[in-house]
Amino acid sequence: MKLVILDRDGTINHESDEFVKSPEEWIPLPGALEAIARLNHAGWHVAVATNQSGLGRGLFDVASLNAIHAKMHKAVSALGGRIDAVFYCPHGPDEGCQCRKPNPGLFEQIGERFGVDLRTVPVVGDTPRDLVAGVAVGCLPHLVLTGRAASLKGHPLPETFPSHTRVHNDLAAFADWLIAKVPAPPRPA
Ligand SMILES: [Mg+2]
Ligand SMILES: [Zn+2]
Repeated sequence: MKLVILDRDGTINHESDEFVKSPEEWIPLPGALEAIARLNHAGWHVAVATNQSGLGRGLFDVASLNAIHAKMHKAVSALGGRIDAVFYCPHGPDEGCQCRKPNPGLFEQIGERFGVDLRTVPVVGDTPRDLVAGVAVGCLPHLVLTGRAASLKGHPLPETFPSHTRVHNDLAAFADWLIAKVPAPPRPA
C-alpha cells in the first residue's frame, strides 16, 4: 500500500496564530487540495496527522473540529480526491501524552489502522516536530516551505530538522516530485 502522511495546518491549509477554530477559518493553501487528488490518482493513500491542542486549551470543541474536517473532506472530494483518515492529538502541551508531535503516537495509530510498516512512508510537514515524529517510526521526512516554514525560503535548514529532510516549495511540488519518482502502475488494457 502506497501511503503518505501529511500535517494539516501550514501544509494543507493556512496556519493561524489564533488557531483554526471553525470551518470558516479553514482556508486551503493554493494547489494543496489538487496535490492530494493528484497523489490519489497516482495510487497514493493520504492520511493526516495533526496536533489540535486548541481542544485541550478549550478554544474549540470536537464538534467544531469535525465540522472543519467535513469541510476539508468535501473540498478534496470536489476535486476527485480523498483523505483516508485524519488522526489528531487533542491534548495540550503540558498533558504528557504520547500523541502530540514530536511524539510518534499518531503515526503508530496510523500504522496500526492501515496495517502498514511505516518505514519509508513519506511524512510531509512545515515544522521540525512533524518530521521528528515521523522519523521516530522510520518515515522519510519532507518539508514544505509553507506555513511556519515559509520564512525558511532561501535559508539553510536549521539543525532542528532531521538531517535527511528533503525540501519542497509546497505540497504541489512535493506531489510532483513523488509522482515523478514513483510512477503509477500501468492501467490494465
Ligand atoms: Mg503545521
Ligand atoms: Zn495527545
